[in-house]
Amino acid sequence: MSETFARHGSPSRVYVYDFAQGRAGMADLLGGKGANLAEMTWLGLPVPPGYTVSTEACRAYLRTGRLPLGLPEQIDAHLARLEERAGRRLGDPDEPLLVSVRSGAKFSMPGMMETILNIGVCDATVDGLAKLYRDERFAWDCYRRLVQMYGRTVYDVPADVYEYALAEAKRETGAAGSAPDSVLGADGLRTLTRRFQHLTREHCGRELPQNPREQLTGAVRAVFESWNGERARIYRRREQIPQDLGTAVTVMQMVFGNLGPDSGTGVAFTRDPATGAPGVYGDYLTDAEGEDVVSGVRNTLSLDRFGELDPESHTELLRIADRLEEHYRDMCDLEFTVERGRLWMLQTRVGKRTPAAAFRIAATLLADGEIDEDEALRRVTGEQLAQLMFPCLDTAHAPAPIVTGVPASPGAAVGHAVFSSADAVTLAAQSTACVLIRRETNPDDLPGMIAAAGILTGRGGKTSHAAVVARGMGRVCVCGAEDLEIDEKAGTATVTAGPGKGTIIRTGQIISIDGASGALYPTEIPVISPPLVRYFEGEHDNAQTDPVIGAVTRILAIADRRGRLGVRANADTPEDAIRARLFGARGIGLARTEHMFLGERRPIVERLILAETPRQRTAELDKLLELQRADFVGLLAAMDGLPVTIRLLDPPLHEFLPDLTELAVDVATHPMNQERATLLAAVRRWHEQNPMLGLRGVRLGLVIPGLYAMQVRALAEAMVLRRRDGGNPDAHLMIPLVADARELELAREEAVAVLRQVDPALAVQIGVMIELPRAALTADKIARHAEFFSFGTNDLTQTTWGMSRDDAEGAFFPEYLSRRVFTVSPFETVDPEGVGALIETAVRLGRTTRPHLEIGVCGEHGGDPASIRVFHDLGLDYVSCSPYRVPVARLEVGRAAVLRRQDPDGDGTR
Ligand code: PEP
Ligand code: MG
Repeated sequence: MSETFARHGSPSRVYVYDFAQGRAGMADLLGGKGANLAEMTWLGLPVPPGYTVSTEACRAYLRTGRLPLGLPEQIDAHLARLEERAGRRLGDPDEPLLVSVRSGAKFSMPGMMETILNIGVCDATVDGLAKLYRDERFAWDCYRRLVQMYGRTVYDVPADVYEYALAEAKRETGAAGSAPDSVLGADGLRTLTRRFQHLTREHCGRELPQNPREQLTGAVRAVFESWNGERARIYRRREQIPQDLGTAVTVMQMVFGNLGPDSGTGVAFTRDPATGAPGVYGDYLTDAEGEDVVSGVRNTLSLDRFGELDPESHTELLRIADRLEEHYRDMCDLEFTVERGRLWMLQTRVGKRTPAAAFRIAATLLADGEIDEDEALRRVTGEQLAQLMFPCLDTAHAPAPIVTGVPASPGAAVGHAVFSSADAVTLAAQSTACVLIRRETNPDDLPGMIAAAGILTGRGGKTSHAAVVARGMGRVCVCGAEDLEIDEKAGTATVTAGPGKGTIIRTGQIISIDGASGALYPTEIPVISPPLVRYFEGEHDNAQTDPVIGAVTRILAIADRRGRLGVRANADTPEDAIRARLFGARGIGLARTEHMFLGERRPIVERLILAETPRQRTAELDKLLELQRADFVGLLAAMDGLPVTIRLLDPPLHEFLPDLTELAVDVATHPMNQERATLLAAVRRWHEQNPMLGLRGVRLGLVIPGLYAMQVRALAEAMVLRRRDGGNPDAHLMIPLVADARELELAREEAVAVLRQVDPALAVQIGVMIELPRAALTADKIARHAEFFSFGTNDLTQTTWGMSRDDAEGAFFPEYLSRRVFTVSPFETVDPEGVGALIETAVRLGRTTRPHLEIGVCGEHGGDPASIRVFHDLGLDYVSCSPYRVPVARLEVGRAAVLRRQDPDGDGTR
């Protein structure tokens, strides 16, 4: 390829496609809008004629700053064909053709790029246009709109230059500046057009070209360039859309909704996108053009009302909506225009929907035989299911929100407004719920963010510090509420625009935020457990009447049948185990035993650590034995018949001792208290600079005599008791933080001996947590002593990346996310290249030693949809996650199996 062609493109390359040449599957090349217009054309629906300039042309333009070689000629050729079909020519003084030029990327980026309507109107054609439509006012309205849109988009003239002149023109007629545009007649609009032209010249020294073909080129370039506009770049970063895709440009014959009362424009969905209920749903505006509907400048009419005004167009719209839904086998949204009683389709796409609607629509289409079970599973996601399970605000009787920001971390938070981290900590210490309001957050706010029920910020999007940290901690978060002026010193947040304008929130006032919608309410709104959770917990009264519950259970049942991975729960108490079982867990994959050493039991642990003789130590261990046995009996009973994996003690012992600094102060102020002084010496002995890498897990079991033996004995005796009571206990023992096979061998020998002592007939599998890179790399040796593996991906991620989660997430993750070191926290979604490679190695090595080794995962990643797909691919046997994530995991386990079958190479192609 010559240098010229490399820079400017190839003259033989096709850059422009007539609507009749495309199909819906060509969104990469034609953008979503172009591809779906082509599909509608193919279906024979009434789409105005037009063509699409491809994303490839845009990419070439953005690389070189010039239209690629051959593009202008291809545009000319397609324009000629369009003129022929329309029976009008661009620039014709008698019967001028007008076209719209609109952006359309592969992924929808609503409002982020440019659109220019009415290309083709100029001094030479405006009178012809007026005659053609028998409406002079209309012709001048088209002209002034073009000058305005062109000036703004192509020449970057500030929008308010035109808005101000428009308001002034209205005032000159004696109307208010905010009066509808219709107060201006043909003469007024002619004067306004000239004024707009003058203002454009004044601002940029240029003017709307009088040659319509030149207008068209300018508009195409401007749309290409809008791909790199700041708004668009920020949006793509937030939505994780690649920055190098480019946009397509559709050029279409204009049809006019602003030609009087028998014209209009509207948007519709083939079903209700909020609830998924059947029936076409939408808005219509008479005598209006394109953006007027979405911009909300005038009150829209319902589609029923549209049906009364224009029954024929309405009937046709319903017929087309049916046809589109049947064709796409999904809910579609559509834009249409009625020009003097004739309906035209301007756009369609598979519509965005709420999580509730997603489930309901998938289940309905399945029941109607439109899609099969696998497709129903592909149509919903674990994230959507998770959203249906968050506690929510009971907004049935609530006032409208005063502000809506970016919904960054779901759930509902109600509490006193505070404006500093310190205030949040103070209120939390008094068990008073609060919502922390900050302009933006930084690592210094961390204590307050932990203390608060929710976080609200005025700046930043979904990857801001507040959003990342809040999601990591499971805190509710609304960020980027830009209509809120936050004065942290004064302790006020003032609404500066929108429906709540002027409302002031002050320190101490109770407010409510909704992390799923981004809404802020200046009062207390009751929080309720959502119906789906109540259903899972056994409240089945509403199952028949709530279509969302019916849809979720139907789709979950399919997922359970399709899934290859099992789903267990991380549960430490009988209550959690019962809940997990109700939510569909098939066992416990991780019961952490550390909470069993806290609360009232802490003094026993303290005495155990301080024991000076074996006798003293045994006495304390015996007390703990009693308590642990009862704990285990409860867990085994709750999960009777299903596997219960007990992890022996993991955290460093000092976590069960008093705080070093506080104790040191206490001893300094009470020098005579010998007991406290001894305790201080012990605390000092156990103190570690870096406890995460210190004396914990199996190391603790090997160093503290009798500790693990006590736990194993408690479990064995609990099994005996359960059996005696007719139960069917299936306990598994798991040794944490093993790095070397010898550690496991020693811990196992001790456990086996204790089990034999209690009852030689007891069958308890003994396995290991793989949560250190060394364990993964030596898994063949470790597997000699392990009957199962469970990946502790929390620690495995910390030790692979060499970062402590608690410190890193608050401190530098926002920076790492915005600079794309990673696009999602590795603590949220398993890092496939590093941690994933270690898991793959460990699975392979482990099964070399033991071909049927059972392997699960019990880190937080076990409940994360994207991670579940990785675990499915790596051949694991089960995932284990917190009880509330169990339904999400069940769904995603099924989806992983179906998605993998559809795309066996996992490379995104089918
Ligand atoms: C893990 O490390 O993934 C794990 C489950 O253990 P914990 O979170 O208790 O350290
Ligand atoms: Mg761990």
